[in-house]
Amino acid sequence: MANQAVTMDKLVALCKARGIIFPGSEIYGGMGNTWDYGPVGVEIKNNIKRAWWKRFVQESENSFGIDAAILMNSRVWEASGHTTSFSDPKMDCKACKTRHRADNLIEAHSKGKVNPDLMSNAEMEAYIQEHHVCCPNCGNFDWTPIRTFNLMFETSRGVTDENQNRIYLRPETAQGEFVNFANVQRTTRAKVPFGIAQIGKAFRNEITPGNFIFRTIEFEQMEHQWFCKEGTDGQYYNEFKEKAFRFLLDLGFKEEHLRFKDHDKLAHYARAACDIQYLYPMGWSELNGIHNRTDYDLSRHQEYSGKSLTYVDPMDGSRYIPYVIEYSIGADRLMLAVLCEAYDEETLENGEVRNVMHFHPALAAYKAAVLPLQKNLAPQAKELAAALRKRFPVMYDEAGSIGKRYRRQDEIGTPYCITVDFDTLTDGTVTVRDRDSMEQIRLPMDSLAAYLTEKCSF
Ligand code: ATP
Repeated sequence: MANQAVTMDKLVALCKARGIIFPGSEIYGGMGNTWDYGPVGVEIKNNIKRAWWKRFVQESENSFGIDAAILMNSRVWEASGHTTSFSDPKMDCKACKTRHRADNLIEAHSKGKVNPDLMSNAEMEAYIQEHHVCCPNCGNFDWTPIRTFNLMFETSRGVTDENQNRIYLRPETAQGEFVNFANVQRTTRAKVPFGIAQIGKAFRNEITPGNFIFRTIEFEQMEHQWFCKEGTDGQYYNEFKEKAFRFLLDLGFKEEHLRFKDHDKLAHYARAACDIQYLYPMGWSELNGIHNRTDYDLSRHQEYSGKSLTYVDPMDGSRYIPYVIEYSIGADRLMLAVLCEAYDEETLENGEVRNVMHFHPALAAYKAAVLPLQKNLAPQAKELAAALRKRFPVMYDEAGSIGKRYRRQDEIGTPYCITVDFDTLTDGTVTVRDRDSMEQIRLPMDSLAAYLTEKCSF
């Protein structure tokens, strides 16, 4: 069962009220499917990216990070197949002029029982006719035929011949890793198997059903490509499935909110592919993908660039193009899952309801909030906050009753509230309140840094 406390509407409202996520270009009436991260949200998202980088680059002996350019030579997208086949089947409702994805219409109509990935465009049209699938916006049944639209955003550089200068905003970060395979291998002297990872923006001209930041036209991906020898690919595919799942459990996800879903239809070059799905408020949906892409990517880039991407094994002199196990997860989609998982409404003993975000402390925007019990303790409290800020992001709040200040921190998921009171002046101790249990302990100020380090690490 999904987290019953949360709905998408509640989450959007909380995010807006607490500076987590705002609608994009809001003062101009917004811009569909774009969102801006606020002061609290940007910290949480950075922490998500940091946790991922730590796990998949820093702690992984043979993985290396890069940061490739968003704009790439257009030949990259010819080699990858994106210019010809990165498209969605779309239909327009002639009555209300809205555009929809035929596969989404079928999935929604059949309540997930029919898999449109296995259908051709003609079969999807036939299904929509036969089942009289109406427009979800206006309820009419007046569709155009299916047309395919490429999802890549185009732009151009320079001022001359437009066609020659057409370039694309990358629709995925993975190609930056493939085209740098030889650079990374040469400069790190890595031996296969090894990995290349990066985190960066990607852009897709998607029609979205508006599930907040689940599907946006601009988003961040965290992608890891593992280059290995054919024959070992099955073993590494399974290892990455396990590693990706373990990462989510370690971030605090409940196991019953996650599941593997094998792809029913594989790309012609792929040997295996699955998603990890999360039980979002709108139902089970993809959180990340794991794919065994064979030697397709490097072979295509070798062919299109004319540069050798063949690996020579120093042990036995054998030459081969490595296979790739790809693990790809959207930072924003993970952020949404983290928010959904953390959200809670708790009824307290006095009947009050507190909204609390039970983030893993490593993901929380602020590790602690320093609160003076009374305003005349502000100088000591500010001094403590300033000292802790050298090590962690720390909030300071002196406005309102202590109870109200606790509630504000609960809503943004600050794991510890540190209260400076009159005893602090004599014995140097403070009260530390735990966000989840609401229990309070007394600690010497000079032990706080070690305490927070231990509690907030990932
Ligand atoms: P979907 O089936 O949901 O469109 P996909 O299979 O096309 O996703 P991939 O191309 O495998 O997705 O991208 C890898 C990951 O990037 C996805 O698992 C998801 O976390 C994220 N992602 C993809 N498209 C978007 C988007 N439009 N907005 C936010 N995140 C996205």
